[in-house]
Formats: sequence, structure tokens, C-alpha cells
Amino acid sequence: MILIFSFIVGLCLGSFFNVLLARLPRGKSIMGRSQCIQCLRTLSWFELFPVFSFILLRGKCRTCKTSIANRYPAVELITAMVVFLLVWQRGVDFVLFQPWLSILVILYVLLAFFDSLYMILPDVIIFPAIGIAVIYVIRSPMSLNLILSSLLFTAFFAILYLVSRGKWLGFGDVKLVALIGLTLGYPLGFAAVLMAIWIGAIIGIGFLLIDKKNLKKELPLGTFLCLTTIITIIWEPLFNQITRLL
Ligand SMILES: [Zn+2]
Repeated sequence: MILIFSFIVGLCLGSFFNVLLARLPRGKSIMGRSQCIQCLRTLSWFELFPVFSFILLRGKCRTCKTSIANRYPAVELITAMVVFLLVWQRGVDFVLFQPWLSILVILYVLLAFFDSLYMILPDVIIFPAIGIAVIYVIRSPMSLNLILSSLLFTAFFAILYLVSRGKWLGFGDVKLVALIGLTLGYPLGFAAVLMAIWIGAIIGIGFLLIDKKNLKKELPLGTFLCLTTIITIIWEPLFNQITRLL
């Protein structure tokens, strides 16, 4: 029951993310009713249900028949999946009574969407996330580890950023690893960053082999970083067991 409920909460969160993803990059207010992007008709209440409305409307606007991008239900389903997995793996108490990490997971999901769609990691999300991470760090028994890891990750990525003049990674990625350091510390944060770089390298090489024209295609490193961090938080007890074996 609680898992179904968490999935629905995730769908609603994903629906809100769609609003942010559509409006933040255009500098539009996030308040106000949603409209069709083509005919600008204000949507009715029954067109606002996550995923269900999309299926009901067969992916088209009711009046102008413009296709609604698959991105909308995809964002909702992925967000719902993450909330579901988090509650399933870590339990309700973890989510409700130590909310900082759970809030951070949600923000990492949002950052991953922004980076994969627009190649940006907006400051309006990263800075509040760092604020929440600082609260988490203060309350954590491993504060020193978290702070030192964050400084180390930031320094390493800042050097890569400067040496490559922003070609290998963006400055947003530097801020993101500062956040990951505060969230996971050593060794889990280190493992998450390393996994993200590997995923990026494997996909990058894959693109090269399939299509040489994609050589210049930028890969969203931030999305991979968010993904591995989310996975690490959800399955942290398992990863802790593994690192104890090593
Ligand atoms: Zn329309």
C-alpha cells in the first residue's frame, strides 16, 4: 500500500518537474495554469493527471491535435520509479525521519533531467541542494569525511575544468561533485563519481564506434553523476557491505 502511494507521490513530483523543465529555461513563472505549448489553450483539470491524461488523450492536445512529447510521461514515470525504489529499499522511516538524503535524491533526479535535456545544471537547484546537504553534513557522524571528500572532488574536477578549458566538463559538473562529496563522502561518493566517468567513457566510445559524426556530441556527464549518486543512496546498505569486503 505504502509503495503504491509512494509511486503516486512520485508521479505528482514528476508532473511538477515537467512544469519546471518546460518553464525554467524560458524564464517563465512556474505559477499559473498549464497551457498547450502550441495553441496556448489552458488545460482542463482532467488533462493534468500524470501519465493517465497522456494515455487518455492518446498523446495529443484535445483541440489542436499537436503531439505531446513522450518526454512528459517519461519524466513522470522515471521520477515515480525512483521514489518507489527509495521507499522500498530504505523504508518509510528513512524517508520521513531522515528526510535530507531523500530530498537530495529528488533534487538529483531533477538535475539529471535538466542536464540530459538542456546540458545545464541550474544554480537555482544546485545551490538549495548544497544548502540541504550542509544541514545533512552537520547532523552526520561522518561530517569531516563528507567535507574533505567534497573539497577533494571539487579540486579535482576544477583542475580538469581548467586544464580542458571547459571541454571535458562544464562548471556545473564542478558544483555537482561538490554536492556529491557532501552527500556520500569517501568511499561511496568516490565510487559514484568513478562509475559516472566510466559510464560516460563507455557511451562515448560506443557513439564513436557507431557514428563518427557524433564525435563532437557532448555527453551529459552531470546526468551520469546524478544517476550513480541516486543508485548509491538507494542501495547504500548493499554498497556498504561490498566496500567492507574489499
Ligand atoms: Zn493545443
